Amino acid sequence: MPSPPFANRNEDVIHESGTSGGLPATRQAGGCAGAEDRRSVRRDRPDRRRRGLPDGHSHHAGGLEAAFHPKLPYTLGHENAGWIEEVGGAVSHLKKGDPVVLHPAVTCGFCVACRSGNDMHCPTWKFPGVDGVDGGYADFMRTSARSVVKLASGTDPASLAPQGDAGLTDYHAVKQILPFTYPGSTVVVIGVGGLGHLAIQILHALTPARIVVVATRPERVAFAKSFGADEVV
Ligand SMILES: [Zn+2]
Repeated sequence: MPSPPFANRNEDVIHESGTSGGLPATRQAGGCAGAEDRRSVRRDRPDRRRRGLPDGHSHHAGGLEAAFHPKLPYTLGHENAGWIEEVGGAVSHLKKGDPVVLHPAVTCGFCVACRSGNDMHCPTWKFPGVDGVDGGYADFMRTSARSVVKLASGTDPASLAPQGDAGLTDYHAVKQILPFTYPGSTVVVIGVGGLGHLAIQILHALTPARIVVVATRPERVAFAKSFGADEVV
């Protein structure tokens, strides 16, 4: 099996988690759509060292396992970006080499939930890397056409992988409060971790609110301000 370039923010998180160990690689990863609606996404670099897991995966043996009852073994990795490696016969808008970021869920696109934009409530919803469907720690993963978001040509997808889950979580939360934020409003972000630092940026982009961040680690003060926090306490 070839070892194509790697694109994932997991390297960053690995540095934080500092754990050790490897993961199996597979081409048979993820996806629940029909064969012609699938495409493989290339995700590995030959120089990548598989050293650990994102912090979120440490919860897998707890809440996630209880919620999803995944059948073991399978490949983890639910925040994914990379390059298109192969597309099915029904896919015409993507080609090999396109940089992409993946929506974490694989949904049908036809049910009431999908049609109304509530994809996460799709009755055939799958969550590769979490619910027992193979995820992005493999050299390749397979997902549906609906789950692929094409990036501008030449984009390095590595830094955008967290947008496939953490970024969506923050975006959803910020969208909820948009009707209540006006010039002069204050929004408080508690914590500057994997979600918090993205929330600051999304608030900065979408609202006129003053952004106050609560941080417990001194080094995160400058970090938060560099992303648009007006004040850090
Ligand atoms: Zn659906």
